[in-house]
Amino acid sequence: MNKVPDGYRLVLTPEQIREKVREMAGRISEDFSGQVPVVVGILKGAFVFLADLVREMTIPVEVDFAQISSYGNETKSTGRIKVMRDISTPLAGRHVLVVEDIIDTGHTLNHYMNELRQRGPASLRLAALINKTERQEYAPGVDYLGFTIPRGFLVGYGLDHAGMGRDLPGVYEVTGAEG
Ligand code: 5GP
Ligand code: MG
Repeated sequence: MNKVPDGYRLVLTPEQIREKVREMAGRISEDFSGQVPVVVGILKGAFVFLADLVREMTIPVEVDFAQISSYGNETKSTGRIKVMRDISTPLAGRHVLVVEDIIDTGHTLNHYMNELRQRGPASLRLAALINKTERQEYAPGVDYLGFTIPRGFLVGYGLDHAGMGRDLPGVYEVTGAEG
């Protein structure tokens, strides 16, 4: 069985991603200079991006994870969001950086960022590897953005296709699949 299935079209090479992540980590390190931010990764997809990002950062960080599920028709603005696993780090007075793999409609982050904001962080910022702009209904103000890819169903570098493909070092478009 091939690691990269037929019908996967490479859209971001590992080198392109590495360069971008390094650049983002540089800016984040400058902006959070002198601070110890809490880096909150959104499972499962963000685990690869977060791992690379924090290792390129030149400041100390704490890391925590949350897992969030969308229910119902995902293309609908009323899609219900549930926090399946919350972070355990208290955020009051802390500088917080949420790390997400990809933003599509924006509902997942809208919901969770609002929840985190109520915990009284000193600041709350967002880093996302990919922003998929075409279906965006809520624009969650991405402070650090890797790539804008308007449409398509993407897999690799943490993103899955029916549970598979998270381990691919590049990002691929699943051709013929619905985003
Ligand atoms: P949103 O709430 O912004 O519509 O959805 C965000 C979540 O949907 C992401 O965290 C991710 O889990 C999933 N998602 C959105 N677009 C894609 C995509 O192109 N590929 C994959 N694998 N997941 C996606
Ligand atoms: Mg995700």
